[in-house]
Amino acid sequence: MSALVTQNLVKRFGGVTATDNVTLSVEPGELHAIIGPNGAGKSTLIGQLAGEIAPDSGSVALFGETVTALQVHQRAKRGLARTYQITQLAKDFTALDNVLLAVNARATHNFRFWRNAHDDSIAVDRALAALNTVGLSAQKNTPVATLAHGEQRQLEIAMALATEPKLLLLDEPLAGMSQGEATAMIALLKSLKGRYPMLLVEHDMDAVFSLADRVSVLVYGRIIATDLPANIRSNPEVRAAYLGDEVAA
Ligand code: ADP
Ligand code: MG
Repeated sequence: MSALVTQNLVKRFGGVTATDNVTLSVEPGELHAIIGPNGAGKSTLIGQLAGEIAPDSGSVALFGETVTALQVHQRAKRGLARTYQITQLAKDFTALDNVLLAVNARATHNFRFWRNAHDDSIAVDRALAALNTVGLSAQKNTPVATLAHGEQRQLEIAMALATEPKLLLLDEPLAGMSQGEATAMIALLKSLKGRYPMLLVEHDMDAVFSLADRVSVLVYGRIIATDLPANIRSNPEVRAAYLGDEVAA
């Protein structure tokens, strides 16, 4: 059974068709990357998968269950976790507190006061394990505002992992990173590959081609190709529409 299936998703903003009949799947253990130029509709697509944006038509299914009408928290309860293109962290709180907030937001639908969260040993263990997975154990008590940008992005992955997801949606996790930070993030994503099915939206071609099992190319809301990375690289329509000179022949 597929982890995720969309059928003919459509989303219009006024005259702009941001999502134009998108049909795609993420299979168990698969890392499916979505590439496409700015404004292609990548974030809008992720928003519809997470339940933040209602499609005009089409459907979304998680592990065989149609979830098109379900709210964000109902999809999260079914194991869907996402990260954002722009970081969404509580900057005055520590790294550990941010992960605890994520754990508790998932565990109860109500906000539990964070001070109590430190007494919940299961939540704390889960949060520490997630920080360890992303390599931030030593920074657990560091206020997020003083973490490097790359560390903040790793923390967002930890927040997703701490909810014990069954499917990860990652919206440009390498955005704004230095080369060194990007290399570390690619290594982290590689270590997660196979453990979670992932839909990865990313601009960084080196990352996409080294990580993805399949790549879909989105242009003006439409998927113009879905294929193995090597075939995407050499697809003339893809090169004309998007890759241009970015990928050497
Ligand atoms: P990407 O993530 O690929 O850069 P987006 O999904 O952010 O693309 O945007 C796709 C298109 O939809 C763009 O033309 C953008 O301007 C438009 N768009 C996105 N969100 C909104 C919105 N809330 N209202 C109006 N237009 C939007
Ligand atoms: Mg985007």
